[in-house]
Amino acid sequence: MCRHLAYLGPPVPLGALLLDPPHSLLRQSWAPRDMRGGGTVNADGFGVGWYPPDGGPPVRYRRGTPIWSDATLPELAAATTSGGVLAAVRSATVGMPVLDTAAAPFAEGPWLFSHNGVIRGWPDSVAGLAGRLPVRDLLTLDAPTDSALLWALVRHRLRAGAEPARAVAETVAAVAAAAPGSRLNLLLTDGQTVVASVAGHALSVRRRPGAVLLASEPYDDDPGWQAVPDGRLVVATAAGVRTDALAAG
Ligand code: GLN
Repeated sequence: MCRHLAYLGPPVPLGALLLDPPHSLLRQSWAPRDMRGGGTVNADGFGVGWYPPDGGPPVRYRRGTPIWSDATLPELAAATTSGGVLAAVRSATVGMPVLDTAAAPFAEGPWLFSHNGVIRGWPDSVAGLAGRLPVRDLLTLDAPTDSALLWALVRHRLRAGAEPARAVAETVAAVAAAAPGSRLNLLLTDGQTVVASVAGHALSVRRRPGAVLLASEPYDDDPGWQAVPDGRLVVATAAGVRTDALAAG
């Protein structure tokens, strides 16, 4: 199952988050420590989205190939700095296609989104939920995958004016009810706040003064990493972290 991370804080080179740490996403792509629910490596693609330090919408780089095989990323990641980053490496769920556009982060306007997990009984289990989306959203999904549909469901609530924490919590609740046993670790950011659900997969948080990191697996041995228990919703900014029961939204 995929591994993802989000960072808010002073601008840093993307490589300092993705490639350089001893247990970076690069390493987690071939030697993850905490895979649950199937999969051994995260070799079906990767993506990084970042907010330009001068402002403006996030920029993405996504590929449907292993992160370790990408010849462009090291230079790009060394030369690009950002204070708001969301990145992921993908292990495609059996039956789902390997495409550039199936790799997180998914995006619209100021938003970046990622899903670590699986919708059980896909796609029939969530046909009712999907059927409530505008048909245009279904026809323009990034990819025919559970993660892309989850993004459409969250985005639909955001477009309707829901607070991001509520959009994530309500989507997790609706999908968990329709497809019990699903693993629904979501990450959503606008570059100022990160919302993360912990539902079936691991997530750890590391706080530093003026900075916060959320990651499926700690990327180093810093004792500041704290594992978030299952069933929690994390709302993090560079200034602080709040954790609530997921069901409470
Ligand atoms: N099920 C999603 C996909 O195939 C996410 C995979 C994951 O978490 N491994 O894209």
